[in-house]
Amino acid sequence: MKSDASFSSRLLAWYARHGRHDLPWQQDRSLYRVWVSEIMLQQTQVSTVIPYFDRFMARFPHSRALADASQDEVLHLWTGLGYYARARNLHRAAQIIRDEHDDRFPEDFEAVLALPGIGRSTAGAILAQARGQRHVILDGNVKRVLTRLYAIEGWPGKKEIENRLWALAEALTPAEQVVDYTQAIMDLGATICSRKPNCAACPVQAQCLAFAQGNTSAYPTAKKRSKLPVKTAQLLVLQNAAGEVLLQQRPPSGIWGGLWSLPEYADPTVTLTDWCEQQLGLVVELDEEQPVFRHTFSHFHLDITPRLGRVKGPANHVMEATPGVWYNTREPEKLGLPAPVLKILQNLQERPHG
Ligand code: SF4
Repeated sequence: MKSDASFSSRLLAWYARHGRHDLPWQQDRSLYRVWVSEIMLQQTQVSTVIPYFDRFMARFPHSRALADASQDEVLHLWTGLGYYARARNLHRAAQIIRDEHDDRFPEDFEAVLALPGIGRSTAGAILAQARGQRHVILDGNVKRVLTRLYAIEGWPGKKEIENRLWALAEALTPAEQVVDYTQAIMDLGATICSRKPNCAACPVQAQCLAFAQGNTSAYPTAKKRSKLPVKTAQLLVLQNAAGEVLLQQRPPSGIWGGLWSLPEYADPTVTLTDWCEQQLGLVVELDEEQPVFRHTFSHFHLDITPRLGRVKGPANHVMEATPGVWYNTREPEKLGLPAPVLKILQNLQERPHG
């Protein structure tokens, strides 16, 4: 497919009139601010990201502040955004910038790409947006636009399709005005060529093969996926006499890595009360099970049963092997919590404590 310079000029003319120009990270486009925004925007919509971005910048106005913060505080500010590996990588990368780059975000593409959590498209987007360097981007929005524009069949995550899309993205990216062009093509994908495209308002409709075929909904080809498996978990909501709830920190990697969660009972060979005594060093009196609710991850559903219980006897008798915190839901500490745990704790706050 040959490139077409009229694509970028049409897109840029549309962007000048209809694109988004007042997003928080478009003001003071430092490498740091653009980097944080690009990471937050992965998998997440602009309207959701804005308040998180503002809070993050208020607390961590520069990379050094982020590097020196505790992981708990970083995850706390990420609570509710999901995909927590992004926050852990951001924190780790800030420490690398502090320790290996003299507190300056690198401006060399390979060095940016070497930072944790930054792939080829994100590295390109950061350097294009913050420094005006010509780099090609291919995020989910751009993939959607290009598969429709060129009627490309096949799941875009497949290597062969992805390589084709990179080549097209490369051919379409102009040498000039890359700051506006990268923002424009992302905006087109986010606002016009979205899941249900608004082709009537599209500046490149005349060039779009999917539109010409009357078949825009066929692109991009969805991944063939079997039904998501369903897993279950019993999460224990154990309260001491003060009404505080026991939280434990998850291992650093894996689901909810580094976040503070409720103890998970997953050993059918012992009763729940025995498990609490053996694993947590707590004598508990259990209340009834709470209704099951579902939390969906990208690759499985988790059906969660919250199980309430009260700790009898000395409240802080938690074994050394299972470090935890007693969490006061009325004066919460700054910890990162998975969204379903936050929901359980909020529900709990509405219940009378006997
Ligand atoms: S014409 Fe429709 S499908 Fe084609 S690029 Fe524009 S919005 Fe997307």
